Amino acid sequence: MSDELAIRLRGAVKRYGQITAVNGLDLDVPVGTCVGLLGPNGAGKSTTMRLLTAQAIADDGEIEVLGFRLPKESKAARADCGVVPQLDNLDVTLTVEQNLLVFSHLYRIPRAERKEAIERAVQMANLDARRHDKVDKLSGGMRRRLLIARALVHRPRLVLLDEPTVGLDPQVRQELWALIDALRAQGTTILMSTHYIEEAQRLADTVLIMSHGKGVAAGPPAQLVAEHAGREVLEVYGPPARLAEVQAEAAEAGLSTRRTGTSISILGVDENGHPFEGERRQANLEDVFVLLTGEEIE
Ligand code: ATP
Repeated sequence: MSDELAIRLRGAVKRYGQITAVNGLDLDVPVGTCVGLLGPNGAGKSTTMRLLTAQAIADDGEIEVLGFRLPKESKAARADCGVVPQLDNLDVTLTVEQNLLVFSHLYRIPRAERKEAIERAVQMANLDARRHDKVDKLSGGMRRRLLIARALVHRPRLVLLDEPTVGLDPQVRQELWALIDALRAQGTTILMSTHYIEEAQRLADTVLIMSHGKGVAAGPPAQLVAEHAGREVLEVYGPPARLAEVQAEAAEAGLSTRRTGTSISILGVDENGHPFEGERRQANLEDVFVLLTGEEIE
């Protein structure tokens, strides 16, 4: 058992028939930090989340959550976790408050503390004015906030957020970021899966980039950028044939490139002494992501 790690995975494997969804994954989530699992569709993020809640049982490897070994001690681990699923599974026939009340029972909050716990969750999610409304009367953003508040009702030490803002418009996404950031500021440990680069960059202290069920790089976003993509990137625009030439020339010069729709990004152009002309910009986490996984994501 580790005192400082809220989550510790070593060599975790989960297979579904022929598919290996998680393929020898190592993951550390230190207490009091926010870690982002970043990966394209099918990378194994949701399966990793399911392993951590023992909804899926690993075929191999070690999994510890809050010092408890999974799957054996999953009940004890779950009691101190808040889980925000990717799919909204709120009870639409109940009100905001009633949804929270159901969870306060599930998490065995003592009767005398229930009212206060629900109040805290309502305030955190900024749903005071809608507390007596049935869930099917709420907007998508409000429902997402309630889904998060519901996971917080028992003041968990660890919160697992599976794609917390998937499919939401940018304004709602930013509201949720503020909510997650407030949680972080209170010292709650967070593991969040996402396929939005900006979400990981803004909220996560450290990011684990996943591809094909494995971690391909881990560290604070700025460190990953510096290590893998350097400081500056050159965007070269031109007709497709020219872009192909530039890509070949850059490869010859030992420079990494990535293709976006209308340009070639040449990485690691910090030092002078290359023949290319284009627009310079700062390297970012997306460059690292594409370089390491070969995939474009949001
Ligand atoms: P997304 O961003 O699309 O949610 P993800 O990174 O969360 O992707 P997973 O949902 O973990 O990825 O899926 C990883 C792989 O495992 C995929 O190939 C998926 O089809 C497969 N998979 C996941 N769950 C099951 C299941 N219950 N049965 C069979 N295959 C599964």
